[in-house]
Amino acid sequence: MLERRIPEKRGAAFEVTAGETFDVTDVAGQQVADLVAFAAEDPTERLSTKYTYRRSGRVSVTTDDTLYTTEGDPILTITADDCGDHDLLYGPCNEWILADYYDQPEANGCRENLSEAIAPLGVDPALVLETLNIFMRATVTDGRIDIREPQSAPGDTVRFRADRDCYVAVSACAGESTVNAGDTGPIDVTVPDGTDVHTNW
Ligand SMILES: [Zn+2]
Repeated sequence: MLERRIPEKRGAAFEVTAGETFDVTDVAGQQVADLVAFAAEDPTERLSTKYTYRRSGRVSVTTDDTLYTTEGDPILTITADDCGDHDLLYGPCNEWILADYYDQPEANGCRENLSEAIAPLGVDPALVLETLNIFMRATVTDGRIDIREPQSAPGDTVRFRADRDCYVAVSACAGESTVNAGDTGPIDVTVPDGTDVHTNW
C-alpha cells in the first residue's frame, strides 16, 4: 500500500477498482476529512449522502455500513473504523462558508479542494457536492443541526472497500473552527500500490 499525506487545507483524488480498499487517517486527531466518490464508468452517478441514509435509515455510518449512489447502488463500504463518528448531513465547506462563518475570506474550502484534485479524472466540479464528512461530529436536537468538535484521536483510521470501479477524492477540511477543534491539520490516505494520486498542491 502507498501512503500519501494531504497537507492541511488541500485535497487528493485517485481511482480504485472494485474490491480494492483504501484508508483515510486523521494524523494528529480532531481533523475532518471530506470524501466524494464517483462511478468510473459514468461519473454523473456518484455518492449520495441523502440516498445513503434513505437506504440505511441512519444518518451516521460506521463499520459494515455501505455508501450508496444517486442511483441507489453501493459504491463504498466501510470495513474498519477506529472513530465511529462521521457526518452525512453537512455539505462541504467552500469559499462562502469559510467567509461567512469562519472569518476566512477568499480561501479554498473542501468543495474547491475536492473539485481541483479530481478534475484530472474528468469529474465536473458542479457534481462535487455531497460529501461523507469523515471524523466530523454533528448533532441534531429538536430539528436544529450543530457542529461539535471531532472526537477522533491521532492515528484514527477508516478503511473503505470499493463496491465498484470509482473515482474518490478526499480533502483535509479547511475550517479553522469547531469543525476541526479550532485548528487544521493533515490527513493521510493509503491506497493500493501503483495508484496515481492527483493533488491540488
Ligand atoms: Zn471542510
